[in-house]
Amino acid sequence: MRWSGQELGVEQAGMLPGLARLDNLVRSVQTPEFAGVTFHEVLAKSALNKVPGQSVVPFGWTINPYRGCSHACVYCFARPTHTYLDLDAGDDFDRQIVVKVNVAEVLRTELAKPSWRHDAVALGTNTDPYQRAEGRYSLMPGIIEALTMSGTPFSILTKGTLLRRDLPLLAEASKRVPVDLAMSIAIYDQELQQSVEPGTPSAAARLATVRAVREAGLDCAVFLMPILPYLTDTRAHLDEALRQAKAAGATSVLYTALHLRGGVKPWFMQWLAREHPELVERYRSMYYGNNAYAPKEYRKWLAARIRPLIRAHGLEQGREDAATGGVRSSALGRSPGDAPGFDRAEASARLATSAQGLGPADPAALF
Ligand code: SF4
Repeated sequence: MRWSGQELGVEQAGMLPGLARLDNLVRSVQTPEFAGVTFHEVLAKSALNKVPGQSVVPFGWTINPYRGCSHACVYCFARPTHTYLDLDAGDDFDRQIVVKVNVAEVLRTELAKPSWRHDAVALGTNTDPYQRAEGRYSLMPGIIEALTMSGTPFSILTKGTLLRRDLPLLAEASKRVPVDLAMSIAIYDQELQQSVEPGTPSAAARLATVRAVREAGLDCAVFLMPILPYLTDTRAHLDEALRQAKAAGATSVLYTALHLRGGVKPWFMQWLAREHPELVERYRSMYYGNNAYAPKEYRKWLAARIRPLIRAHGLEQGREDAATGGVRSSALGRSPGDAPGFDRAEASARLATSAQGLGPADPAALF
């Protein structure tokens, strides 16, 4: 492999105690192309995550090929998940990226199980599958192929322009299974965007990706999430955001005001105090105590402001998947194999062929 010889000693248990406890860590790697970032390559035991708290069908399912995200959004609600690894929810979340190098193989095995119901699967609802690491590891093509060949509908939400690389594959996939794509673009002020989401591509680059998705013949929603109170909720900003989304060909837009859950709040407030100290007290009064959501009055005010603008720009208001928080799969409410041209027998045969050589059918035996 081209990065051979660039390994860190994985025996540095004192440096990463949580990771060292994992019995599936292969190695930790740093490379000059990703200055300041360490990749921790692991062999995943499972690929499909069932969204907790779901008692109704269809269940919410997600896949997260990476843990941590170099897009580094200060408001990212996934930050606290890093503390499970004894890493912190701040810089470590941005720079210590766990990579499930075998995720596609494990996924193929899970999807081949007779018990798999072909519920829609969401990618990008926890960490971004098209963050920069994907340029190095290319995990998504294998995931897309596995989902497609098994007849499993899926959705992808991302801020990553690397999505363009996989558009031919996604266009093919959409002939076989429902595929729903969404680009998250919430901040159209370049200086603010670079400050709040320092590792992300610019809004212009993401809008160009929306255009490319549409040119590939696929729908693309734009997520205006999160809208930051007193920073991006002016009529002028929202109007410009919707104008640009419409011009890029967005098929629908979804919006929501900032959520600030417990583990994220200190990180976000630290940023706010540094960049916009004048807003600290206003945010404290909105997100006081354990309050993760913007107050109801604010959300009503925001809806009254943005909904007429959405209509004025001729955009449709999209719907979130209540289970995963991602883009709602167009497969919900219909049978999984309903996409035109989908042939379940052929898909099963192809999957069986593809799975050959993967070794044991039991994912646990992969370790
Ligand atoms: S792109 Fe998404 S997952 Fe990545 S840091 Fe930003 S909000 Fe979190």
